[in-house]
Amino acid sequence: MYKVNSNFQNVSGSYLFSAVAHRVSQFCEANPGVDILRLGIGDVTRPVCQAAVNELVRASAEQGIAESFVGYGPEQGHHFLIDLIVEHDYRARGIDVSPDEVFVSDGAKSDLGNIGDILSTDNIVAITDPVYPVYLDTNIMAGRRIVTLPCRASGDFVPVPPDDVIPDIIYLCYPNNPTGMSLTREQLAVWVDYARSHGSLILFDSAYEAYIQRAGVPHSIYELEGARECAIEFRSYSKTAGFTGLRLGYTVVPRDLVTSDGIRLNDMWRRRQSTKFNGASYVVQRAAAALYTPEGRQQVKSNIGYYMTNARLLIQGLADASLTVYGGIDSPYVWVKAPAGMDSWSFFDILLEKCHIVATPGVGFGECGEGFMRFTSFNSRANTIEAARRIRLLNRL
Ligand code: PLP
Repeated sequence: MYKVNSNFQNVSGSYLFSAVAHRVSQFCEANPGVDILRLGIGDVTRPVCQAAVNELVRASAEQGIAESFVGYGPEQGHHFLIDLIVEHDYRARGIDVSPDEVFVSDGAKSDLGNIGDILSTDNIVAITDPVYPVYLDTNIMAGRRIVTLPCRASGDFVPVPPDDVIPDIIYLCYPNNPTGMSLTREQLAVWVDYARSHGSLILFDSAYEAYIQRAGVPHSIYELEGARECAIEFRSYSKTAGFTGLRLGYTVVPRDLVTSDGIRLNDMWRRRQSTKFNGASYVVQRAAAALYTPEGRQQVKSNIGYYMTNARLLIQGLADASLTVYGGIDSPYVWVKAPAGMDSWSFFDILLEKCHIVATPGVGFGECGEGFMRFTSFNSRANTIEAARRIRLLNRL
């Protein structure tokens, strides 16, 4: 009889979102016609940027003509896109990344999961708590030993490098999902220095880089000295240009990442991708390239501005209800402390019953998320304004 990967039995079911859905549907059955506002969603609501849509149409038409048809492309991504990434996302910020260090994919989630293919299962992995669950679950599936880095309000949700167990691999996500907090250059430098001195590898999830508003918050881990020797960076077009359905992202694997045995991670990742991946859609890569035109850049900026205005409106409503709020400044996520001593699920019930608002219980992102709630700014302006109005009324209850 064949055997399965028994590590899968150690992965918890997608309890969080099904539990949320269950409570919401029970509430709606008991209260028909109630207008529920969903501020738990992680998907965007604004459509794909028009510059990208125009390219989708043009490049799709190209595919129907023998002379312009494009079949399999380079597994690493088309050069027309990679060159734009290198130029705009890195060199324009004074960061040295070369085209052969960029790998275009169908999104950050796949790469964050697949990167484990080139890393031994003997590695000890450090993961923050609370956390975007993909890092945790993919490492449980691989059977790696995991240490958690508690992130608490008292420490501004900044993880502290452990000194008891030295992790080989460290996942960092900034701006952070779910806390919405960002790291300053100095705070990130602590991790880069730690990784370099201990021979650890940082997997830096930068899916929300475009949301950074404050000066002093690095846009790439490679802004820090020595990061090319210890970090892989993951980026996504999902939340910037509405590509959650189109699917596109990229990963930077610097050539300076070399193990003590002289093995280059860039070569391994190239081998992995060319073996298991046939490249992201040509048409979608063309659409992404359009995001680097002046119109495309303007449209992405306006999208981010829209969601960040939503975040501000939410923060104001929550603060007016005397709630303590974190994040939402360099990120579309707002992390809210439940009222005195209340746990995440009790606060969830109050928001649902009194405000008809659905948010995501923080405890679903890890034990340290207990007592918090994650709100997202991805809903429409009108819904966000209405949500903020309802939240303010909590003050009068
Ligand atoms: N990383 C983080 C922190 C995310 O929150 C998400 C999506 O919600 C992703 C990665 C996934 O990005 P993509 O849509 O490119 O797979």
